[in-house]
Amino acid sequence: MSSVGKGITAASIGKILQSRGYSVANLKADMYVNIDAGTIRPAEHGEVFVGEDGVEADQDLGNYERFTDQTCTRDDYITTGQIYQEVIRRERNLEYGGEDVEVYPDIPKEIIRRIELCQKKNKSDITVVEYGGTVGEYQLHPFLEAARMMKSKNPLDVFIILVSYLPTPSLLGEQKSKPTQRAVIDLHSMGLNPDFVICRSDRSATPDIKRTIGNVCSLPVEKIISAPDVYSIYDVPVNFEKENLGATLLKTLGLPERSKDLKEWTALFHKVAKIEKKVRIGIVGKYFNFKSCRDTYISVIESINHASWALSRKADIVWLDSEKYEKDKKLLSELDKLDGVIVPGGFGSRGAEGMILAADYARKKKIPYFGLCLGMQILTISYARNVLGLKDANSTEMNEETAHPVIATMADQVDKIKNKNYGATMRLGAYPAVLKNGSLAFVSYGKLKISERHRHRYEVNPKYIADLEKAGLVFSGRSPSGILMEIAELSKKVHPFYLGTQFHPEFKSRPLSPHPLFAAFLKACIKKGKK
Ligand code: GLN
Repeated sequence: MSSVGKGITAASIGKILQSRGYSVANLKADMYVNIDAGTIRPAEHGEVFVGEDGVEADQDLGNYERFTDQTCTRDDYITTGQIYQEVIRRERNLEYGGEDVEVYPDIPKEIIRRIELCQKKNKSDITVVEYGGTVGEYQLHPFLEAARMMKSKNPLDVFIILVSYLPTPSLLGEQKSKPTQRAVIDLHSMGLNPDFVICRSDRSATPDIKRTIGNVCSLPVEKIISAPDVYSIYDVPVNFEKENLGATLLKTLGLPERSKDLKEWTALFHKVAKIEKKVRIGIVGKYFNFKSCRDTYISVIESINHASWALSRKADIVWLDSEKYEKDKKLLSELDKLDGVIVPGGFGSRGAEGMILAADYARKKKIPYFGLCLGMQILTISYARNVLGLKDANSTEMNEETAHPVIATMADQVDKIKNKNYGATMRLGAYPAVLKNGSLAFVSYGKLKISERHRHRYEVNPKYIADLEKAGLVFSGRSPSGILMEIAELSKKVHPFYLGTQFHPEFKSRPLSPHPLFAAFLKACIKKGKK
C-alpha cells in the first residue's frame, strides 16, 4: 500500500548494492495518468522533486538521490501518462504499420523500453525499479505484465521484491501475515512469484511469520526480510544488511559478493542515535492536511535533519499554518519560542498574507528566517511593505492588479499562463548564479559561483531592485546575466540570518554533505537557542 516504505526500500537496496561497488540505477514508475508530478497538489501526492534537468518528479527520486548521492534525470521516472502518450504518438505516426494497438502487449512493451532505456542511460549493473501503487489494483496490471514478460525472457536477470505491510491489531498484539498472503496470491494471478518479501511493520517479523510467508511463496526464510520501524530512514540499509539482504540479492542475481563500504554512513547514524540536544524550527506553510506534512515537505525536513545532525542537534519541527496569523496577529508571538523559521515553496494566494506577517515578525524579532522560493518572494514583499513603505506591494501571483508588483510574472511565463499551458513550463531545473563577495550567501557557500535547482513562474521585478537595495535588502545572488535575483538577504549587522533563495536548496542536501545554506541557517538557529 502507499506510504508503506517502498521508496525507502528501493533507495536502500540501491545503497547496499552501490556500497559493494556495483553501479546502480533507481527508477520510479507511478501509476497515475499525469505526465509528471508537476500538476499534482503537494498535499495530494507529496512533494514535487525537481531534478537537475528540470524533471518534476515523484518525491521518491529525492530518496534515491539522498541515499545513493547520484543525480536522477527524467529517464529515471515513468508514469502511465508518459507510457500512453508515447504509444499514441507512435500510432499517429503510423509506426505500428497498420496493426491495431492494444493495451496488451503494446503498453507493457513501452514500459520495458523505458526500463531498458534507464539502464542504458545510467550504464547500471543493476537497475532497481520501484512500482508505486498496490498489487491487485487495475492500473498496476500493465506494469506487472511488463515484469512478467521481462522475467520470462531473462529468468535469471529479473527478480521481484514484494514490499508488504504486516499489521499488529492492538487488541491482539500479534503480527498478522494474511494481507501479505493475499498480495502474494494476487501476484500469482499475474503470473509472478516474489523472489523476496520485505516485511514492513512496527516490529521485526517473527520466525513463525517468516516461515508462513515463505511457504506461500515457496521461498526460504532468508528471502523474507524484516523491516521494522526505525528512528531514522537512513538506518534502513544498515538493518537490511543485518538481515543479509545485500549478499542474498547478489547470490540470486548470480553476481559475485564484494566487500562493502557503509562505514561513514553507519558512523553518522550511530552518532545521530546519541544526539540529545534539540533545535526548534518552525515551518510556516499551508499544505497541511490529512496526509503527513512529511510527504509534502520531505526534502525540506531532510535538509534540516542533515544540517542539524552535522551540528550535533536533533531538530524538532513545528508546523505552523500561516492562515491563522491572518485571523489573529497575536498568534505570531509563538514564533518567539522557536530557534528559527522557514517559509517553504508554495503556489497561489491562500495563506500568503500570513506568511508575509511571519516574515516581518521574524525580521523585527531577529529570529533566523530562511525562505525557499516562495519564501524569498514573501521576504521581498514583506520588506517592500514594511521597510520601503510600499504598503500594497505584492506578487502578481497573489494580486494581478497590485499597484506595486515587487514580484512579477517572468516575461516568458505571461503567454503560458494566458494559454493555460501549465505542464512542465515553469523555470525548471539547474541554473547557475553568481554570489556577492562578502555576503552571507558567499560566506556560507565559500565560493562565488553556484548552481541550484529552480521551479517558479514569478521573479523579483527588476523595476524595484534599486529601491529595495537602497532600503537595505541585499541581492547577494544573481543569474550570470545579472537580470534574475536568486538570493535576497539582510546584512549580518542587522539580522543574524535573514535570507531567501529563488531556488530550492533542499533538493541538493545529502546526509553526509548538508547543504551550505541549511548549515548556516541551523548554526544561526542554535546560536539563538543558546541565548
Ligand atoms: N509560486 C511561486 C512562483 O511560481 C513560488 C514557486 C515555489 O515556491 N516553488 O514563482
